[in-house]
Amino acid sequence: MRLKTKLIHGGIDGDAQTGAVVVPIYQVSTYKQEAIGKHKGFEYSRTGNPTRHALETYIAEVEGGSRGFAFGSGMAALSTILSLFNKGDHLVVGDDVYGGTYRVITRVFTRLGLEVTYVDTSDLEAVKQAIQPQTRAIILETPTNPLLKVSDIEAVAGIAKEKGVLLVVDNTFMTPYWQNPLDLGADIVYHSATKYLGGHSDVVAGLAVTKDPQLGEDLHFLQNSIGAVLGPQDSWLLLRGMKTLGIRMEEHEANTRTLAKWLAERNDINRVNYPGLPSHPGHELAKRQARGFGGMISFDVGSGERAESVLAKVKYFTLAESLGAVESLISVPARMTHASIPPERRQELGITDGLVRISVGIEDVQDLIDDLEQALA
Ligand SMILES: *Cc1c(COP(=O)(O)O)cnc(C)c1O
Repeated sequence: MRLKTKLIHGGIDGDAQTGAVVVPIYQVSTYKQEAIGKHKGFEYSRTGNPTRHALETYIAEVEGGSRGFAFGSGMAALSTILSLFNKGDHLVVGDDVYGGTYRVITRVFTRLGLEVTYVDTSDLEAVKQAIQPQTRAIILETPTNPLLKVSDIEAVAGIAKEKGVLLVVDNTFMTPYWQNPLDLGADIVYHSATKYLGGHSDVVAGLAVTKDPQLGEDLHFLQNSIGAVLGPQDSWLLLRGMKTLGIRMEEHEANTRTLAKWLAERNDINRVNYPGLPSHPGHELAKRQARGFGGMISFDVGSGERAESVLAKVKYFTLAESLGAVESLISVPARMTHASIPPERRQELGITDGLVRISVGIEDVQDLIDDLEQALA
């Protein structure tokens, strides 16, 4: 089955009981047992729910893994993954990961005894250097948020294999439509499904997929033990949203390429970060490991004041956190998504006050250009 077909027919196709063409919302917490321990595969909805199970089977197939998991948010997915590790274990983590990822690792999991080194995961030598005897995993995001730096998943997977550590990839920005980290050697891929997978700004959810069956068992044990699971209603919404992932990503991509090119040609903007631009340092690598470049652009308008004025003037770009929805969103990472990163560290990373991030929606691209034009004037 090719990917576009898989997005429509993958996983559990419809409802065998009734012939309903989509899996219904099983809004239920428990299941009748015919005798003690004798049941139809479901006992209690934290452990497993038919609607969530359909979503989990679907994402596993779409990402090319063996086992899928649905959580109440991307951070719930990550926190459950981090619970695989023990006190004293060391992690190597990308240095410009999502702000919430940085926060949960530094302020929650290090308190519980995990050790962490942040490195630029696009620098393979730096990744190698950061690995210690007690390192258990490398966690990376590619492209990164908001600077769109690209890391070589296959090469980092090679380092991980050689050192006997896991590679965990946050695939939120690319989605399985453009990039499949498990095929490139990663052990776990996870998503904030709140973004492109849901796609309509109406659900908060997280998904994870493993390839190795034992790792799948371990993660299922943690999912059930911790219980940060996705409810049946939201599982259904995600299943519904993901059916159109292919056509949405194609539209996001086309609009983003046009906008990035238009922005790059302006002389009142300092820097345009988009892996789809041939001038981007990660362009060739992105082309090699993914089938598209995604729908995120960041650019520096020169100052915090100008960024604020742009945000105040735009009509079609909604000022909001989040990304990946059908409507275009605009934000200033330094003051919003990345505000939890200390100012000195933001400066170090290049997340300047004038950096504007846009998540390009699927509106008519000419309206988006006209809107940015008047806002930048
Ligand atoms: C939003 C986001 C997360 C966190 O996901 P939630 O669903 O908000 O918990 C993690 N990683 C990336 C790249 C994100 O954009």
